[in-house]
Amino acid sequence: MQQKFSFKLLPSEAVNNDIIKKLLASAAGKKKEAISGFYIEKKSIDARGKTIWVNISVHAFIDEPFQQRPFLHFDFKSVNKVLKKVIIIGAGPAGLFAALQLLEKGIKPIILERGKDVRARRRDLAVLNKNGIINTESNYCFGEGGAGTYSDGKLYTRSNKRGDINRILNLFVHFGADEKILYEAHPHIGTNKLPQIITSMRKLIIDCGGEFLFEKKVIDFIINNEKIESVKTIDDSVFEADAIILATGHSARDIFELLHHKNILIEAKAFALGVRVEHPQSLIDNIQYHCTTREDDLPAASYNLVQQINNTGVFSFCMCPGGIIAPAATSKGELVLNGWSPSKRDNPFANSGIVVQVELKDIIKNKKLKIKNDALSMMYFQQQIEQNSFAAGGGNFVAPAQRMVDFTNAKKSSSLPDSSYLPGLNSSQLNEILPSFIYQPLAKAFIEFGKKMKGYFTNEAIVVATESRTSSPVRIPRDANLLSHPQLKNLYPCGEGAGYAGGIVSAAMDGERVAAQIAAII
Ligand SMILES: Cc1cc2nc3c(=O)[nH]c(=O)nc-3n(C[C@H](O)[C@H](O)[C@H](O)COP(=O)(O)OP(=O)(O)OC[C@H]3O[C@@H](n4cnc5c(N)ncnc54)[C@H](O)[C@@H]3O)c2cc1C
Repeated sequence: MQQKFSFKLLPSEAVNNDIIKKLLASAAGKKKEAISGFYIEKKSIDARGKTIWVNISVHAFIDEPFQQRPFLHFDFKSVNKVLKKVIIIGAGPAGLFAALQLLEKGIKPIILERGKDVRARRRDLAVLNKNGIINTESNYCFGEGGAGTYSDGKLYTRSNKRGDINRILNLFVHFGADEKILYEAHPHIGTNKLPQIITSMRKLIIDCGGEFLFEKKVIDFIINNEKIESVKTIDDSVFEADAIILATGHSARDIFELLHHKNILIEAKAFALGVRVEHPQSLIDNIQYHCTTREDDLPAASYNLVQQINNTGVFSFCMCPGGIIAPAATSKGELVLNGWSPSKRDNPFANSGIVVQVELKDIIKNKKLKIKNDALSMMYFQQQIEQNSFAAGGGNFVAPAQRMVDFTNAKKSSSLPDSSYLPGLNSSQLNEILPSFIYQPLAKAFIEFGKKMKGYFTNEAIVVATESRTSSPVRIPRDANLLSHPQLKNLYPCGEGAGYAGGIVSAAMDGERVAAQIAAII
């Protein structure tokens, strides 16, 4: 017999299979020996009360042999002799999952990626963190696996209407991720594990007969008769295909400029901008777990904060428990922050973006910004703040920073605490970098966050500028059903850069969706 049970356990009990077996036996009215095995179907932590509980749903095998968790199976076809081919520009989650979907449909993917493979990319990241020198084609956003590779690998998404989340998680497991991502409420993989998973995906794509080309930055589209006839890369190579998936991410400003200059329709898009905040992890653990020391069986605590300040939304974004603040710029002279964490989340810091929603009207009505009203307005606003931040840091990706209480008082901090940010920090007044429509809501929100999480609003925390690449500042429009661009029948804008996804899982689902649509019509 197979039966499902739910239990509310202490953290130490939830990691003890023997205890779970005993509970199963008692719940089923059987002896312990009758339970041949079980697997967890759902697991979440409830830290709302004084006692921390772990809720688990268990699939148990009683008086019958244990069977492993059922995984989804995938049928990737050999496309060596196939004539139908699709160019995918960008090897981020959207591009990679589009390629995998094409292989399942028996169509040949040709991936053109501007950056390097994961291994070469790691060396460029080391130079950036250590020497403050950026490779504009190989960094935290550009290269194999896109912005997702050296990320936290949080796989939690609310976009459950956009595709099959379970399929995406199973694909990650198929390529080497731990199966716990299938049942944890907030699954994550970790920066140390992602590169190997991405490498396995590349290997499969090539083994099936797909092409995976690095250092092939797309620089032009040759257009004829409302179609993209060919795609030109930086080394003057030309590629032709039945369809083109444009999955270049939110940082490919040259692609947005290329489309704009070629009069291919794009639109300015609202996004969120702000700062990255870092606390000692122990402080966040104390607040969230109501304790003085976190129990070994509990993960580093996270938080999720939202506050309306005079009708403007301020919210936490991409919170990284036990993580590192990373320099995520893609150009010289611009400072962009993001965060990552290893699978164990065992660094002594907790960081998170705290960002303010920005609309086009905020930019246009602000005369100080001097930004003209067109499809690239939001992108140039984003760039301007990143340049201000770089200048305030003093160069080499040193970031301007302020203690949290000092930030709200617009007071320069006399000293800064230790931080995970490797290029270093420079004590600065962030109200001089951020426009007041960003600074004011942030300052007020920190005080409110301190009321929701007692101890959060403290000078032990630092505020670092700037968190600016939360989503794309541009939308590349597409037909709601056909998914192709309204002016170019065989161009398929896809993923985060086109404005149809935010985060790894939603970008991956969008890649699958676009590829399935192409397969249905070519
Ligand atoms: C440090 C960091 C941490 C993050 N943490 C998380 C997280 O924990 N969870 C989460 O869900 N999301 C996270 N994100 C965001 C997530 O990575 C993105 O939402 C996701 O990668 C978007 O996928 P995408 O495929 O649409 O675009 P991208 O991942 O941006 O991929 C675009 C690809 O296109 C390539 N490209 C760009 N221009 C060209 C060109 N002209 N020619 C050829 N190739 C080109 C780029 O090199 C890149 O590889 C993080 C991002 C960063 C930077």
